[in-house]
Amino acid sequence: MGNSDAELIDKILSLKKRRNAVILAHNYQLGEIQDIADFVGDSLELSQKAAKTDADVIIFCGVYFMAETASILCPDKVVLLPDRHAGCPMADMITAAGLRERKSKLPGAIVVCYINSSAEVKAESDVCCTSANAVKVIESLDAKEILFVPDQYLGHYISTKTDKKMILWPGFCPTHIRIQPQYITNLRQEHPQAKVVVHPECRPEVIALADEVLSTGGLCRYANRSEVKEMIVGTEIGIIHRLRKENPGKKFISSSEQAICPRMKLITLERVLWSLQEMNPEVKVPEEIRVKAKATVDKMLEIGRG
Ligand code: SF4
Repeated sequence: MGNSDAELIDKILSLKKRRNAVILAHNYQLGEIQDIADFVGDSLELSQKAAKTDADVIIFCGVYFMAETASILCPDKVVLLPDRHAGCPMADMITAAGLRERKSKLPGAIVVCYINSSAEVKAESDVCCTSANAVKVIESLDAKEILFVPDQYLGHYISTKTDKKMILWPGFCPTHIRIQPQYITNLRQEHPQAKVVVHPECRPEVIALADEVLSTGGLCRYANRSEVKEMIVGTEIGIIHRLRKENPGKKFISSSEQAICPRMKLITLERVLWSLQEMNPEVKVPEEIRVKAKATVDKMLEIGRG
């Protein structure tokens, strides 16, 4: 017979202490993973936590590019991704070779990569951004033409906020594009008091129906601070767990039960315990790529501070 959740959690917490490990979890993780994490947040918040931690081991409960970003920022730490198959399909829609080819045809363009990209793609880019800071990063650049990779929908959203010419890579998030405008229209009719808050990875037709367009971190802050009592949430459903936990008096309605990222859900308590026991799978970025990718991420962090 397997372990109960309570037994698994006890084992994880005591082994975590022995290994001097920290557990970082993305807002889209399963509720039980969020509950054992030292910190839950969006990609930007998690990479900043990773950069500051004094733990020896980082258990990254998220997808591959996030663990890679932690490894880029903290080369001396062991970064574990509890399931090696937890990749982001959007990040896999672009390769470094494909980007090099596109760049060669656009000599005047600055390349901005969404953080949802591999270390190799970051190494080929000029600056990185997240959904939380994308508009600020692009507005700060001294260039008229931007090649934005890999998310065409985030890119399209940014293009409505800037005068710069945006050339978009045709990638997308398979989870966010499942959210259809009709779902939002129907839910608005059922819940006329609710505010509609969506992620910028959604389709433009969905974004056009929203009251607010926010990253997952921004969405959590909005829910905590605003007077709004009811929200229709247009992003991956894992975030509903955190929203309900932090705002017990408020109502959160998922825009679609289909907005599930299967790769995020590969991380389970069993996998976390196994990963800590075996110290595997470790995510490590080769030094030559890491140094270039770090420059791209650092540029974003500097703009964020500016
Ligand atoms: S929700 Fe979309 S962008 Fe996020 S990890 Fe899953 S596939 Fe990638």
